[in-house]
Amino acid sequence: MKAAGKSSVLPTCGGPWDKPLAEVGEIAPARLKALASEGIVSTADLLRHYPRRHEDRTKFPAFPSAPPEGPVCLRGIVVETKMIRFGRRCQFLLTLAEECGGATIRCRWFNLRYLPKILQAGQDLVVHGRLRAMKKGGLVIDHPDFEVLEKDAPDSGLIHLDRIVPIHPSLGPWSPRALRRLIFEVLVRLENDETPAPDELRSIHFPGSWEELEEARVSLALDELFEMQCVLARQRARQSSGAAPIILRDAELLAKFVKQLPFALTAAQKRVLGQIFDDLARGRPMNRLLHGDVGSGKTIVAATAMVGALAAGHSAALMAPTQVLAHQHYENLRRLFEPLGISVVLRTAARKEKTPATGPRVVIGTHALLFSPDTVGNPALVVIDEQHKFGVKQRAKLSAKEPHPHVLVMSATPIPRTLALTLYGDLDLSVLDEMPPGRTPIKTLVRPHDKLSEAADFLRKQLDEGRQAYLVYPVIEEGRRKELKAATTEFEKWQKLLAPHRSALLHGRLEAEEKESIMSDFRAGQIRALISTTVIEVGVDVANATVLLVENAERFGLAQLHQLRGRVGRGSEKSWCVLLAGKDAEEKLDRLQILEKASDGFSIAEADLELRGPGDLLGTEQTGLPPVRLAKLPRDLALLEEARAEAQRLMTEDPGLNTRPDLQSRLTLWEKRLFAGIA
Ligand code: ADP
Ligand code: MG
Repeated sequence: MKAAGKSSVLPTCGGPWDKPLAEVGEIAPARLKALASEGIVSTADLLRHYPRRHEDRTKFPAFPSAPPEGPVCLRGIVVETKMIRFGRRCQFLLTLAEECGGATIRCRWFNLRYLPKILQAGQDLVVHGRLRAMKKGGLVIDHPDFEVLEKDAPDSGLIHLDRIVPIHPSLGPWSPRALRRLIFEVLVRLENDETPAPDELRSIHFPGSWEELEEARVSLALDELFEMQCVLARQRARQSSGAAPIILRDAELLAKFVKQLPFALTAAQKRVLGQIFDDLARGRPMNRLLHGDVGSGKTIVAATAMVGALAAGHSAALMAPTQVLAHQHYENLRRLFEPLGISVVLRTAARKEKTPATGPRVVIGTHALLFSPDTVGNPALVVIDEQHKFGVKQRAKLSAKEPHPHVLVMSATPIPRTLALTLYGDLDLSVLDEMPPGRTPIKTLVRPHDKLSEAADFLRKQLDEGRQAYLVYPVIEEGRRKELKAATTEFEKWQKLLAPHRSALLHGRLEAEEKESIMSDFRAGQIRALISTTVIEVGVDVANATVLLVENAERFGLAQLHQLRGRVGRGSEKSWCVLLAGKDAEEKLDRLQILEKASDGFSIAEADLELRGPGDLLGTEQTGLPPVRLAKLPRDLALLEEARAEAQRLMTEDPGLNTRPDLQSRLTLWEKRLFAGIA
């Protein structure tokens, strides 16, 4: 490959090969329009529509007699098709035979009515999927990917067979097969015009070997990570430019505050506070992420920083993702702050009344209120708690405020450090890597659903001993998915089962006031069991709660279960986390068992990531960042670090990107999409 051995990152953006698609080849106007509506107008756009996988069609294996481990790619002749209808549903059954052998396999698709129009006996078919043994004998693939080979099409062999073939995500009317042909033709055309596309782009679509493909993937993944890191580096520079109030450490008040705490700060808490106070004294806005596992004591760090702001004569705000949490912070901080003469006010959707600004104070509210200045005022320090939903875009919006506040973001999302650099690359990072002393470890038990009654006995015993419990369900109400247990239905059951102990139902659809009163009764120990959804996932802190029971546990991510588990083990009593799998989810117990062994969020997150892939962890939804399509995390963490270092180097040496006008236009495009609507 031409680019092999290159020392720095060279995004494949721009160059003579990048031209409007309308100028390349003969694509029908309607089809061009369909591509344009997917955002594809240039050859670069098209060539960056990467395949989701490849199939080795250089030679097809013989039909296996037992199901092999991974997915297979097989070629055969369709000998029989059958459509079976039952009610509104249907099943399409196809028998595929080896061209020269006698072996056959079955393929099955459910509820795809159009299949008989496409698949018929006699066709030469390639299928891709996982084989299973059928009870009555033989092998079957459910819902395989398939492609009908057109033997007579002129260059069919060249593009669709006898090579490692790309499978692209469909785009409107463009099937993977049609896209493959189009991309192939565009590549040939560029070559003929003597403006060949970069080697990596040719190889990612039509690699000569698996090694070549991996080499291209790595190179392009580096490019996409680099672009993403450049966007973040620029955002970071933007966020920390401008002036912010200088907050000097007021040793006296801080000492007084720390002394009244019922415990001594851990070394990690002190170290992190040092970093925060250094930031606050600089006269430039702080933009810092405080990362620490569930229960590591982030709140007290934030509270100490807020006391610092108040001592310097400024207001501070603390924003929580839910009303329940905002209320809890309010109760706790009021207890800590009022002895110092610091006034604390709560602002939630339910309590929006304006109070006249009466000097410096601490305002506590939900994220949503952050952007309404009349309720929050202009705090010099904004703390954002437990914020997976508070992404780069929201942070950009916050730092567009005038005057620009110091921002401290707190997160327990258990992600490896390097990944944190990606998700929060616009922030400086502080880590609480030490747990407060005196925690009793939580015992985690993963059990099949038929152990429910045993679990219920155990739960009841704990309540009898004076403890409290959380019971968590995946949905509020029974819906179409009958296999999922619902909090509302289960609440009826538990209420009777646990009586005379009082139970309550808590979920996101209750009125704010109702939620508040349930939580305060639970905190006070009057309510003993809380039947809920994941509204309790983050932050809720009740030391007397010692049992967490989760049903349909397989429906939750491991990282999420770890968060939930953090609701117990907060006091001196031994705590339990019981994870019950749903019916028919027995095979998912393996994954859950990771939680029986691991107790720290980081190793769990890594295991989860390895098992499930990053999924949307790095997708636009969570982070508001450009989607990463070729990088595979955590496998490519080294690449991510390289991209980050390179982006930082470039942004320091050439912040105006004068040496890289090509990159300038790519980044501007991303930023427009990301920060649209932000002043
Ligand atoms: P999180 O980091 O999950 O937000 P919290 O701030 O809610 O954790 O702290 C969890 C519990 O640990 C709280 O009850 C808090 O009072 C307690 N805590 C915090 N710091 C210390 C410490 N240094 N020593 C003992 N307990 C602490
Ligand atoms: Mg917290």
